[in-house]
Amino acid sequence: MEIRDPQGFLRALSRMGIRAYVSGKPKEVTLDQLANRVAACTRCGLGKTRWNAVFGEGNEKAELLFVGEAPGEEEDMQGRPFVGRAGKLLDQLIEKIGLERKDVYICNVLKCRPPNNRDPEPQEAEACEGYLRAQIEIVNPKVICTLGRHAYNTLLKKDERITKIRGVFTEYRGIKVLPTYHPSFLLRNQGAMKDAYEDMDKLKAFLQHP
Ligand code: URA
Repeated sequence: MEIRDPQGFLRALSRMGIRAYVSGKPKEVTLDQLANRVAACTRCGLGKTRWNAVFGEGNEKAELLFVGEAPGEEEDMQGRPFVGRAGKLLDQLIEKIGLERKDVYICNVLKCRPPNNRDPEPQEAEACEGYLRAQIEIVNPKVICTLGRHAYNTLLKKDERITKIRGVFTEYRGIKVLPTYHPSFLLRNQGAMKDAYEDMDKLKAFLQHP
């Protein structure tokens, strides 16, 4: 595993309580180890209300990584990301790229469900930030697709409207990022599917010619 920012990576791991290093070099940290940390996490109040933490899943060497907002009810019950109605729509978007779910990596900004699917609180996103950052470092994708305003704004530390940023490439720590609509929004606004499909075409083209 190549670590682009060893100091930052160590800090993120240390915030999560992982401090096992040999002469300053991190031991191989696996996604499984991080998932175990997340399963036991009590860094914010959501640790008390979740049924299951939802760490993320998919191809650990994926070139494309999706970041959603937070688990919903179905995800909380199953402990897996995007398995409800929004997940079916995400599968459709992935197919548009010519890929399958097993080819990509899927995770969320928050690893635990906010009660009644309310928006994530800033301190909850902050508590989870190190996990997301470590996941991205380990998978090391060529491109990240953020789903919806919260995923983009939390990852990039911005406060933008989705209509302004959607479909425009930007960068996170040297990795290309393409924001698109959240699948739940697309379920309610079928007219926006055209834009989302356009974004998937952009991802496909980027993956073919990075
Ligand atoms: N919405 C999200 O943002 N993430 C999920 O995992 C499911 C629904």
